[in-house]
Amino acid sequence: MSISVKILGSNSASFAHNRHQTSQVVEIDNIFFLVDCGEGTQIQAKRYNVKISKIDYILISHLHGDHYYGLIGLISTMHLYGRRKTLTLIGPPGLLEIITLQLKHSGTNLAFKINLIEWKVGIQELILDLPKLTIKTIPMNHSISCSGYLFEEKENLRRLNVNCLPEQLTPFEIKTLKSGADLLNADGSVRYVNQLVTLPPKKHDSYAFCSDTRHQPEILNWIKGVDLLYHETTFMNDLVQRAQKTYHSTTNQAGQLAAAAKVKKLIIGHFSTRYRDLTPLLDEVKACFDKTYLATEGSIFKTDD
Ligand SMILES: [Zn+2]
Ligand SMILES: [Zn+2]
Repeated sequence: MSISVKILGSNSASFAHNRHQTSQVVEIDNIFFLVDCGEGTQIQAKRYNVKISKIDYILISHLHGDHYYGLIGLISTMHLYGRRKTLTLIGPPGLLEIITLQLKHSGTNLAFKINLIEWKVGIQELILDLPKLTIKTIPMNHSISCSGYLFEEKENLRRLNVNCLPEQLTPFEIKTLKSGADLLNADGSVRYVNQLVTLPPKKHDSYAFCSDTRHQPEILNWIKGVDLLYHETTFMNDLVQRAQKTYHSTTNQAGQLAAAAKVKKLIIGHFSTRYRDLTPLLDEVKACFDKTYLATEGSIFKTDD
């Protein structure tokens, strides 16, 4: 499997220079996750051919408006479009209260169920366990409770090597081989050595979304070796003091973290409105970590590219 990330928005604070606020769609094995939902996300989804009916999970990093003000609009549209299947909403404490209040005062009785999972502040936890992947939280260092998300595919099974596979295997024997065990005769002796008839499992990929945060080296422990890292880069390096004061990161900090964590690719976003041209930011990060890309709207990043 591979993980794909489609960017719908990547500006901080407000809409500026034709850039919308944070939102992206992560797709793994045909399951669609919306990560953050800044204002205008449903318009961006339409623009970039994302079917909102396919989104079954929405993950919110924190309750600053640039990361979730599009949420109630999107939920309302899902309702108007006749959604019936459950929507899982993952986010910080307080999210349920906000959504409930908005629905209550607009007199909306949703035709679908919301399964809300609020994470615990300040600790990493397994927040979602699906058959083929898990999602863990990544505690951020921000002015309010904030969390990133680590998407990890589960380890895949061994693959049958069709060129040297014995004929007429039973379903149980196939399952045994895929699990990595040898096939045995009734007397316990080895009939087929697993490694001679199977191939290693396909690589399992990972993606880390690091939302608004001050530079904190501890993040390294949670994102080591991921295939794809998204990290905020609100400011250029000359504004390192300002970044510290406002709980954000700079170009150098994001690049150095990606290099130290030995990730394969880095996507930078959450750009300050003060930057119309993003090339200087990209250049600064690339000086620390070459495989860096701007989170421009409509861009798609894949773990197997
Ligand atoms: Zn923000
Ligand atoms: Zn924020």
